[in-house]
Amino acid sequence: MPGIYIHVPFCRHKCSYCDFVSFPDKVDYAEAYMACVYKEMKMRGEELKDYVFDTVYFGGGTPSYIPPKLIFGAMNQVRKCFRLTDDAEITLELNPGTIGEKKVETYLQAGINRFSIGLQTAIDEQLSDLGRIHNAQDYVFATKLLKGQNFSTDVMLGLKNQTKEDIAKTIELAAVCGSKHISVYALTVEDGTPIYTDYLNGELPDSDEVAEMYDFGRKLLQEKGYQRYEISNFAIPGYESKHNLNYWQRGEYIGFGVAASSFMRGKRFTNTFDLDEYMKCVISGFYPAVTSEEVEEKDAKFEFVMLALRTAKGLSMNEYKEKFGVTLAEDYPEALKKSVKYLELDGDRLRIKDEYLYVQNSILMAFMEEIGS
Ligand code: SF4
Repeated sequence: MPGIYIHVPFCRHKCSYCDFVSFPDKVDYAEAYMACVYKEMKMRGEELKDYVFDTVYFGGGTPSYIPPKLIFGAMNQVRKCFRLTDDAEITLELNPGTIGEKKVETYLQAGINRFSIGLQTAIDEQLSDLGRIHNAQDYVFATKLLKGQNFSTDVMLGLKNQTKEDIAKTIELAAVCGSKHISVYALTVEDGTPIYTDYLNGELPDSDEVAEMYDFGRKLLQEKGYQRYEISNFAIPGYESKHNLNYWQRGEYIGFGVAASSFMRGKRFTNTFDLDEYMKCVISGFYPAVTSEEVEEKDAKFEFVMLALRTAKGLSMNEYKEKFGVTLAEDYPEALKKSVKYLELDGDRLRIKDEYLYVQNSILMAFMEEIGS
């Protein structure tokens, strides 16, 4: 079923690695910005009236930084403008440095039933290097405030001076605090961010070291009962993220807010990344999308392969044939030959072997080159 994404682009401070659309000095705009988001939802409501959505996701930025009444208002507007299933998964990204009892109460009243907490690491020195505004103790405090609510924890690999012991400590902290879902991502270093200097100085682990960290983390998570259902995502069975599963299954979604992307009726479109332009556009009654394209068949095929191979279930060969009218082997004879060592076939499902998950990019590259996507 399709999902709804709402982008909240305000943060208290810009992290040293951040390349996301987030504004550290503009929280005064939050009320006016969210009024635009509500209006954008109203503008889309009529054309999407036949859709039923089963997930809503507040991402950022830092959604937990803005006044919680604005999240409450956004959920009211979602319910006014769209049809949601009764058991819809409603997630809010939460930064442990921005949370209090009253906020949690308002989120629960708004119907938020899942939280995604950006811990990143349990080592305070590494948090400070990343420019995060919280420490490990703030994470523990935030999880206590949630009083048994379902939450996920983000863990980052490839940090300066990070050891396997640090990763174990981080995963153990998340598990002890009751996280039902853990996402494990490698730090992405973008040119122009402050952390790029550390990268140039050779102070960050190289890709082989990060691959080892990932493998270490993956095994530890599995020992602790978190099952991998996507390359970066692990969950206690039953707590997989419905919203993200929809992305990996090439499901439809509609995004609201600055820089939000959508995929509806075979078209991808993305809103402007400029906050002022976004607000002006919506206030004037225009859609703020600045790019819009029909997805060509070759791109749809590659997306299907790429997303399915990221998941633990793998790619269904029958589904590929049903969707595209040709077999995977007809479209990708060379890529399959090149990747044979890395892949395993289980019935109709093709999967990347666990020990090669970390080289998934080079495996996918072979598929991309062959289809010319
Ligand atoms: S909290 Fe997230 S979005 Fe905000 S500055 Fe840090 S990394 Fe960027």
